[in-house]
Amino acid sequence: MNAYRYLELKAELLVEGIQATPEALREVGTKYKEQNHGLFGWDFEDHVGMVLPDDFLLPDGTVVQFRKNSHSPYRVVSNGKPPALFKNEEELCGVEWIPRPAYYTEKTTSHHNMVKIGQIGGADCLFFCYQNYCSFFPNHEQCLFCNLVSTSSTYDSVLKKKDTGDIGEVARAAFAEGMAKHVLLTGGCFNHQKEIELVADILKSIRDYTGLDRVPGTILPSPARGEEELKRYHDTGIKAIGFSMEIWDERLYQAICPGKSSGTSHEEFVRSIESAVRIFGAGNVYGVFVMGLEPAKTFLEGVKVIAGLGANIVPFVWSPNPGSILEGHRAPSSRWYVDTVSQAADIIQQAGVPSGTENHCYRCDGNSLLHDALRLKGIA
Ligand code: SF4
Repeated sequence: MNAYRYLELKAELLVEGIQATPEALREVGTKYKEQNHGLFGWDFEDHVGMVLPDDFLLPDGTVVQFRKNSHSPYRVVSNGKPPALFKNEEELCGVEWIPRPAYYTEKTTSHHNMVKIGQIGGADCLFFCYQNYCSFFPNHEQCLFCNLVSTSSTYDSVLKKKDTGDIGEVARAAFAEGMAKHVLLTGGCFNHQKEIELVADILKSIRDYTGLDRVPGTILPSPARGEEELKRYHDTGIKAIGFSMEIWDERLYQAICPGKSSGTSHEEFVRSIESAVRIFGAGNVYGVFVMGLEPAKTFLEGVKVIAGLGANIVPFVWSPNPGSILEGHRAPSSRWYVDTVSQAADIIQQAGVPSGTENHCYRCDGNSLLHDALRLKGIA
């Protein structure tokens, strides 16, 4: 199977979901890394009490998010042999579960389980959600694709509030054992001043515990705006910043993200990204999108504008997940994703945006296809 075919296969697996036999899952949660639901749930079905992998590797190293769907034609089977991926009865290729980090069994000095504080996304990205709360849910103004509240109440598997010292200890453990190459930090939407102060404390703790001068990775805060706020985020010591714009088309953005769009306009996001590139440097700023809820044309217009500003893009493949308002809908076809993401990769290559892989790479998460499409062009 060639590399392009793995991109197509990943798109299929994200759009159709996957299942696995009990034998194939036997060592998930002990030898291999399991889901811990640090923020959103991406499976097509809830699976309380069932341990499932977070993600897995295809033979060329492509990282794929595991999205449980018991109706999917894709299935991982092991039968006493290394796990292999089947489509119905046809064997497609071998797959590898990702090793479970050693720190997942350790505790912080304040006796908290480290795995409940920070989790590894993909194969190398240490994820901290510093507050699992979003102010848009109480007024029913949440983004239509978001299942933050339902994931938290269904699984209740991570600490809602984390002590900054605990975060530093987890970072030290994860970097020391080689599981983390970058960090990804995000929280819900709350008071801007408080958020910046909290992020500054968290980054100081991570720097103190790891000895890193600046921390490779990305902060995805509530929409940061204005040079002053952006400089303060830069001063925390994080190397990159992202802006979750979600949808490029302005009217669709307003319809799909009623709460967020009432607080931050499309225009404000674009101005913030422009300013952030001046402060963090080209390639160290990300526009983050949910891909599959707007036409390819408007999505690609957005990619063109953002890449033209010197920023990168992370477009997550939409999952119509349980607990979101769009639960049970269907994402576009895998063909649509591959075609659209390939055009996005062309645009980014032509714009000459630095890859930014020091802060976010194709091994960081299994739910975006763009970094895989860029890897096919030698940008990784
Ligand atoms: S801003 Fe939207 S995507 Fe983010 S947590 Fe709130 S509802 Fe979810």
